[in-house]
This record gives sequence, structure tokens and C-alpha cells, in this order.
Amino acid sequence: MDHPFAVTLEVGTSRANHTGSWRTSRPVYVDRLPPCNHACPAGENIQAWLFHAEAGDYEAAWRALTEDNPLPAVMGRVCYHPCETACNRAQIDEAVGINSVERFLGDEAIRRGWRFKPPAHESGKRVLVVGAGPSGLSAAYHLRRLGHAVEIREAGPMAGGMMRFGIPKYRLPRDVLDAEIDRIRALGVRIMLDAKVGNIHKVMKNGGFDAAFLAVGAHIAKRAYIPAGGAAKILDAVALLRSMESEDKPLLGRRVAIYGGGNTALDVARTAKRLGASEAIIVYRRTRDRMPAHDFEVEEALDEGVLMKWLSTIKRMDEGKITVEKMVLDDKGFPQPTGELETLEADSLVLALGQDVDLSLLDGAPGLTIKDGVVQVSPDMMTGAPGIFAGGDMVPAERTVTVAIGHGKKAARNIDAWLNGRSYELAPKHELAGFDRLNTWYYADAPKTVRPMLELARRSSTFEEVVKGLDETNALYEARRCLSCGNCFECDNCYGVCPDNAVIKLGPGNRFRFDYDFCKGCGVCAQECPCGAIAMVPEAI
Ligand SMILES: Cc1cc2nc3c(=O)[nH]c(=O)nc-3n(C[C@H](O)[C@H](O)[C@H](O)COP(=O)(O)OP(=O)(O)OC[C@H]3O[C@@H](n4cnc5c(N)ncnc54)[C@H](O)[C@@H]3O)c2cc1C
Ligand code: SF4
Ligand code: SF4
Ligand code: SF4
Repeated sequence: MDHPFAVTLEVGTSRANHTGSWRTSRPVYVDRLPPCNHACPAGENIQAWLFHAEAGDYEAAWRALTEDNPLPAVMGRVCYHPCETACNRAQIDEAVGINSVERFLGDEAIRRGWRFKPPAHESGKRVLVVGAGPSGLSAAYHLRRLGHAVEIREAGPMAGGMMRFGIPKYRLPRDVLDAEIDRIRALGVRIMLDAKVGNIHKVMKNGGFDAAFLAVGAHIAKRAYIPAGGAAKILDAVALLRSMESEDKPLLGRRVAIYGGGNTALDVARTAKRLGASEAIIVYRRTRDRMPAHDFEVEEALDEGVLMKWLSTIKRMDEGKITVEKMVLDDKGFPQPTGELETLEADSLVLALGQDVDLSLLDGAPGLTIKDGVVQVSPDMMTGAPGIFAGGDMVPAERTVTVAIGHGKKAARNIDAWLNGRSYELAPKHELAGFDRLNTWYYADAPKTVRPMLELARRSSTFEEVVKGLDETNALYEARRCLSCGNCFECDNCYGVCPDNAVIKLGPGNRFRFDYDFCKGCGVCAQECPCGAIAMVPEAI
């Protein structure tokens, strides 16, 4: 037999019961800073764009994303996604696949031909950007959106910087890069190619520029002195990867040794395999756990048959062979020589030991400070020369595409302020929505979507993209895994649990408000909000 319902008051009847003055604390709706947003070097409002993606409104999601970063299809392929490392969901099951959803949105925008909205006004100011790598492109995009006329001068024959002349095609197809650069051009950014800037002051004066952003990257290969016999073939990694963009592909031979432990060394080894080398071996002086390369890239390289020779330095190269010395790590983790030598067969040796910045364009520029080979900038990204800003690989920071893009955005905002005689004021940061803010009981387990990969057999022989994108169903599912940390996602919990009907619904997209005439301050809404979007604050006495 069905149980009859208990006799209760009608819904809404409790609203007859005014609170009066005895409440000691009241709930307020807040927006906290999700850890993913906090960790993104490009400053993306990830939770906000995932919120639109969850609803299937991909264009709104893409527009929210590109408020901060104009290259989502590129980022969705090459960013090392620190956002995912910080994601709260990782403490429940696995981090949200932010990077794969970002790529989906970027690809969708290219497929559907979405364009950026033109600036609302023209400022009449002219800004010079030197270098069309990610930092220069990002600064140009943000400056143009602020209404400034922007001209990029690029030394190379094509735009993209290291995204084109460093990162191999199997990680970043060039049609994707071209499409995102073309969209920035279509916004009205002028890109002059084969236009190396030799003297920044002269170019600014002759071109009538009001300010400049320098983003020339780091392109000069670091060398190590390696004694070599006459026929030894020694190349540098940056020049080799650059030549992959030209008609004449490098001739490396069957056995290729690569010296270095960073991501560039892995890119060279994987490229060598695709060019037909039967053996590509990375020689590195420390151990795998001390390699600067990212673990997933090491795994992908090992899967493709790249060999690793740990704890070894190269002493000499002769035709067809290299001599390596075995190392040991001392107490502090520094490699120390042992005097033990070994010979490896190698037809060519590629040095991947990092890059220095070519600072010749700054020759004679007054006020600039250069330390450890990089240009010093203040927190507003300005160099010591008024009106000349700099970012990306040429300033002291982590060298990644995402950091470079973040610098471009930050510099653009500061340049805009400087041109208007102001200083740029950052909005105060919200309090962080850490894991302890969440009520995880409300979220179901949902394992992360696995990104499809190109079959191994096809990787070694082609430059086809290795990591594939998500389809719409998977992208939507992945977006819906977001817990919306610290930001209301309109789940209606507070509305449903309030015993005093003091939560007023304002309609889709407008969230809720509290009716303090009826709220008793019991705090059940804050307790039961899944994502920590309600704070209890003491009543003013
Ligand atoms: C092989 C390799 C793989 C990498 N892979 C990744 C990755 O997967 N993910 C990641 O996040 N980062 C990666 N990086 C790092 C990343 O590419 C760089 O940190 C990033 O490109 C730096 O951007 P940037 O705009 O400062 O400089 P760059 O990308 O180097 O662009 C600088 C541009 O300035 C131009 N220029 C130089 N001098 C002048 C001048 N005097 N006048 C006019 N133009 C000039 C150059 O031609 C170039 O186009 C990789 C780097 C390498 C080398
Ligand atoms: S740019 Fe990188 S860190 Fe930022 S959201 Fe995308 S994947 Fe995450
Ligand atoms: S769950 Fe969503 S809002 Fe929270 S950290 Fe992860 S991606 Fe960001
Ligand atoms: S309980 Fe739900 S509706 Fe209420 S604030 Fe939290 S997320 Fe928003």
C-alpha cells in the first residue's frame, strides 16, 4: 500500500514568516577563481567557456575563449595544459580534458568560418609588433581589438615563429596554424613578411609608430664544443626543424644521434624517424626523471621506437661514430664524469641544447637592460625604453607558446593604457575555489575521454597528425565533466533546499538572488551548493 504524504504547509507558506533582526550571518552568491583559470598562462576563463560548451553553444564558448587567446586550435594541440594539472576534478577521478575541448572549439570555428568582431572604434594610434610568433600575434590581436592600427614586421617568409619553424607538422598541421593566423589578419592586423627589423628606434621613427612590442623569440642554437673528425656531420636542432618547412629536406643518414634532453630533442628524434632513419638515439647527461622534456612526449617518442642513452655526454664525433662518456649523478643530482668511454654508431649528430636570443635589433637602444641573454621587463612588460614592450621567449620566463600568448595579451593591455596616459589596473583576483570548497557528493564519477591517436604503424612513415580530436559527442561529454568550481551553474539546489523559500530564481542565465526578508541565515544553501558559489558572511551589527 502507498504511504499517504505527511500533512505539510503549502510550498511558499513559509514566506509569511519574516526574519526580523536576529540573523547572525547571511548567504551571498560569489564567484570564486577556479584553479584551472588560475593556472592557464594565457589567462583563459576556462570555467566560463566550458559552461557555454556544456550547453552545446560552441560559438559562445569559442567567443568567450578567444577573449583571452586567439589561437585555440593551436593551443588545443601544443599547450602543455597546466590547467589540467590544477583541475579540481583530478581529485575525484581525472582532470577535465580542457585541452581537448579547446581544440574541438578551435577546429569547429575553422570549420564554420567564425570570425572576430571588428573593433568598436579606431584609436588613431599606431603600434609596431616585431615578430609574428605566438607572442607577437597575440599582442597584435589584442591591440587591434582595442582599436589600434597594428603592423607586424616578421623576418621570416611566413608567420608563426616556432609554431611553424620548430613544432613539427605531426603535432601541429600547418593548415590549422594558417587558418588561425588568417583570422587575425582578417581583423585588420597587417603582417609584413621578410621584413627583419635591424634597429628598433629607426623603424619606429620612420614608420611613425607610437609604441612597440618586441617578440623576436630565441633562435640562435646553443653550441657545445665537440671535437670532430673531417667527415663528421654535426647539425643544430633549430636549423634542422626549420629546414623541414623548405623543399630540401635534411639528409641525416640511417643512424642519428641527438644531444639534449628537452622537447626539441624529442621533436628532432621523431622527425628523424619519419625521414627514414632506422635508429634515432637521444644522448642525455642525466636520467629520465631529470629530463626537461614532458613525460607524455617521452612516452610517444619511445612508442615510436626512439632510443635513449641516459647518463652520457658526447666527447667526440668521427665519421660514422660518436664517443660518449658515462656519467654518474652526485649527491646534488649533477652529472659527473667517470672517464669510462663507449662508442656509438651514428651517421649524424644533432645538437638540441637550447637557444639564445638574437638581440642585435636592440643595438644602441638606450635604457634597455639585458641579463643572462634576455631582455628585462617590468611587471607591465615594458623594457627600460619608454614605449617599447617585450614578451615571449626573449624575456625571462618559461618558454612555451602559452606563456608567449599570455605575455602578448598582458603587454597589449599595458600598451593601450600607456598610449592613453594611464596605467593598466588588473581587476582584483577572486578567492581561489580550492577542492575543499566543493561538495563532491553531488557529482557522479565520469572517466576522462581518451584522445584518439594515429596507429603506430602509420606514425613512423608519415607526418600525419598523431593526436586526433574529439567528436562532438565526446567534446560535449568532456565539457560536462566540469564541476564549475566556485561559479554557479544553476543547478537549482539552493532554490530547492531553502526551507524559507528565500531563494528567488531570476531565469536562465541570470542565476538567483536571496530575499533577505525571509532568509533565516541557516546556511543550508551554502552547505548544499555543489561548487562553492555561496558564502556565509557575518551580519553587520
Ligand atoms: C622544436 C620546438 C618545439 C616546441 N614545442 C612546443 C610545444 O609543443 N608547446 C609549447 O608550448 N611550446 C613549444 N615550444 C616553445 C615555443 O615554440 C616558444 O616558446 C614560442 O614559440 C615563443 O614565442 P615567441 O613569439 O616569443 O617567439 P617565436 O615563436 O620564436 O617567434 C619569434 C618571431 O620573430 C621573428 N624575428 C626574429 N628576429 C626578428 C627581427 N629582428 N625582426 C623581425 N622579426 C624577427 C622570427 O622570425 C619569429 O617568427 C617549442 C620550441 C621548439 C624550438
Ligand atoms: S591554453 Fe593551455 S593552459 Fe590555457 S586553457 Fe588551453 S590548454 Fe589549458
Ligand atoms: S572542474 Fe572545471 S572549473 Fe573546476 S578546475 Fe576543473 S575545469 Fe576548472
Ligand atoms: S546551489 Fe546550484 S544554483 Fe545555487 S548557487 Fe550553487 S550552483 Fe548555483
